[in-house]
Amino acid sequence: MSTFVVVGGDAAGMSAASKAKRDDPDLDVVVFEKGEWVSYGACGLPYYVKGEIQSLDDLVSVTPEEFREERDVDLRTGHEVVDVDPESRVVTAQSDDGELRQEYDHLLVATGAEAVTPSIEGMDREGVYTLGSMSDGRDLREYVGRARSDEDLQQPDRGPACQFLETCNGPVGIVGGGYIGVEMAEAIAANGFEVHLFQRGDRILKEFSEATSEAVLDHLRDEDVAVYLGEEVEGLAGRDRVEAVVTGDGRVPVEMVLVGTGVRPRTDLAEDAGIELGETGAIATDAYRETNVPDVYAAGDCAEAEHVVTGEPAHVPLALTANRHGRAVGKTVAGEPTEGGRVAGTAAVKAFEMEAARTGVLDHERAREAGFEPMTETIDAKSRAGYYPEGGTVRVTLTVDRPSGRVLGGSLASEYGEGAVHRSHALVGAVTEGVAVDELSNYDLAYAPPFNTTWDPVLTAAKVVDGKR
Ligand code: FAD
Repeated sequence: MSTFVVVGGDAAGMSAASKAKRDDPDLDVVVFEKGEWVSYGACGLPYYVKGEIQSLDDLVSVTPEEFREERDVDLRTGHEVVDVDPESRVVTAQSDDGELRQEYDHLLVATGAEAVTPSIEGMDREGVYTLGSMSDGRDLREYVGRARSDEDLQQPDRGPACQFLETCNGPVGIVGGGYIGVEMAEAIAANGFEVHLFQRGDRILKEFSEATSEAVLDHLRDEDVAVYLGEEVEGLAGRDRVEAVVTGDGRVPVEMVLVGTGVRPRTDLAEDAGIELGETGAIATDAYRETNVPDVYAAGDCAEAEHVVTGEPAHVPLALTANRHGRAVGKTVAGEPTEGGRVAGTAAVKAFEMEAARTGVLDHERAREAGFEPMTETIDAKSRAGYYPEGGTVRVTLTVDRPSGRVLGGSLASEYGEGAVHRSHALVGAVTEGVAVDELSNYDLAYAPPFNTTWDPVLTAAKVVDGKR
């Protein structure tokens, strides 16, 4: 009997394990997960912290018992793999019961990514959090959702966020204006805290277009989030507990800080085993997610994948890629070689009452490096027919290669529920297939007054860009 060993029990790892076992029931599938949770949706953590999702268990799509009993996967939680020996094809795992050696025929490294801990003074102070794991989520929920004492409630109003709430909580600092920082601004403010968001660069959501960043920034400010742009955080000051965020421009008093400055692929285990990393710092793989070491695969947040526009390896640590690539490895190991597919860097974010999405390459420098001559246009258009009640504005940015018209990337923003994210799917198609913008402008998109105008904003944007080439 052949043995498939998986290191890491979340999106990539459990997708691979389930698929391999389903396609080849004779395969012995062993999963090592160092934590207690498997197959959890970290993407839901901001909404759990916010209080919209009541229990961490609700974020789990398949429980350990279901994997063991219904899917016949030998799942060992609380087991950290500490060594991979490709010569003898053995992994060593450590648990409370000691060390265990497990032979493999095929191995998947699905160790994910971890929150970056920036080297700023005071990161170890009490009251400083990151949000990378379920236990981080639990700690944060405990903090922001805690009942306030009468004494707390008698504090003078500390800011606009408190105006309509029964509880009035102290200011919270968020370091980092990426999607986690933005989602957490909403989650924390919803619990009655005044939020101060610090972003080193000159805009938030820098993977999105400038126009999208601007729309979300305006909205955050409308929601009373204090956003500090171009402010490098130099330290988190206090005695034992954090009391202030220190920047070059001064100190902002806070009672808690969330640091969301990106993630780094977890590659130590792979590197120690002689598995090569790519230029992005994540594990290099071929189209089948096989590494330089035969029969050793890597998928999900720890691995690279080919970008649909540049053709170069990219590190896009997002959930669908992890699920898709994990599943493909499962099929391959079960006997049907399957490519996991390329990535377009498609992402979505909700910020209070706004939604935004992006796909492809928007950054001109990156597009030029890939041999394109980029140009970008942004339009604002109505989200529904003018005569139809309510509705709002969809802002569409398109980046295209001027000579060929090829759509390189897109970015959209709208009021929440007005379709920026769902509209991005048409752009993902165009970006992935290498479609020219005039062809995009002729896409036969669905239309009815409650959903859009006859010419959907995506089509209008395509016409405008094409006209300016
Ligand atoms: P992970 O989910 O990181 O899982 C890796 C697992 O490996 C972990 O459980 C870890 O404990 C285990 N492990 C690591 N090393 C070892 C070892 N040596 N031995 C045993 N076990 C080990 N993505 C989206 O697409 N959309 C979103 O809206 C979104 N929101 C997010 C919000 C938050 C707060 C976070 C943290 C992430 C979000 N993501 C989102 C990213 C998404 O969660 C990840 O892309 C996805 O979980 C990656 O799955 P993975 O299996 O590659 O890695």
